Amino acid sequence: MKVIILGPPGAGKGTQAQYICDRYSIPQISTGDMLRAAVAAGTDLGRLAKTVMDSGQLVSDDLIISLVKERIAKPDCMNGFLFDGFPRTLAQAEATRAARVTIEAIVEIVLPDEEILKRMTGRRIHPASGRTYHIIFKPPREAGKDDLTGEPLIQRADDREETVLQRLIAYHAQTEVLSKFYGALAAGGSIDAPVIIQVDGAQSIDDVRKAILEGLSRITGHG
Ligand code: ADP
Ligand code: ADP
Repeated sequence: MKVIILGPPGAGKGTQAQYICDRYSIPQISTGDMLRAAVAAGTDLGRLAKTVMDSGQLVSDDLIISLVKERIAKPDCMNGFLFDGFPRTLAQAEATRAARVTIEAIVEIVLPDEEILKRMTGRRIHPASGRTYHIIFKPPREAGKDDLTGEPLIQRADDREETVLQRLIAYHAQTEVLSKFYGALAAGGSIDAPVIIQVDGAQSIDDVRKAILEGLSRITGHG
């Protein structure tokens, strides 16, 4: 199963990605997590990406496309994968098609801008795993600590209000168009067209999860 999870920043992509990946035993390919790991490791890519990420802009298509190509060539991607935060631009979506990567399902989480700020400012992450919490909506068992490892949770540098607003601008200018791009592919009816599963992201985490897994099980034929 090859799946893309689409939606604005803070819509719940990372949260739901983990449920889908557990259900279908596929790796979660989150370009945001990969970039944050590169920043933490202080690699050349990390140094390049850090300034761009902190300003709420997008990292260059060339860098991202080569990062993803390298990742999906790894053996754990043989039976599929989930893209979270990729593609982010038309150029990235077109490069994916040009590389003949056939996507079976697009899960699109829809959420209005007003809700996004609440989500992002309360978000806390466990950097090593990418596990995501929310101080109100999904608190960890012990405040400030990851449920599985007990390690400290952090707030992302780009989850400050000014940066979130910038990221929303980047989303509307460069990423929102992907919904139409994949919609047109699906409507074209070609045999490699993905199925689109649109879900209302304003529901509880559990209800969003149920709606997504139900939509996906209709494609795969098992529930
Ligand atoms: P979000 O929570 O907004 O979905 P991500 O963790 O996916 O955030 O991304 C954080 C930042 O990393 C983005 O604002 C951008 O600077 C960079 N980034 C992640 N994925 C991509 C991508 N596919 N193309 C360009 N930049 C990316
Ligand atoms: P994205 O990957 O799209 O940026 P996340 O999965 O990181 O989004 O979710 C953003 C924040 O909102 C996190 O703190 C997460 O715990 C919380 N969250 C995710 N889904 C929901 C939901 N349905 N209701 C309330 N809070 C949510």
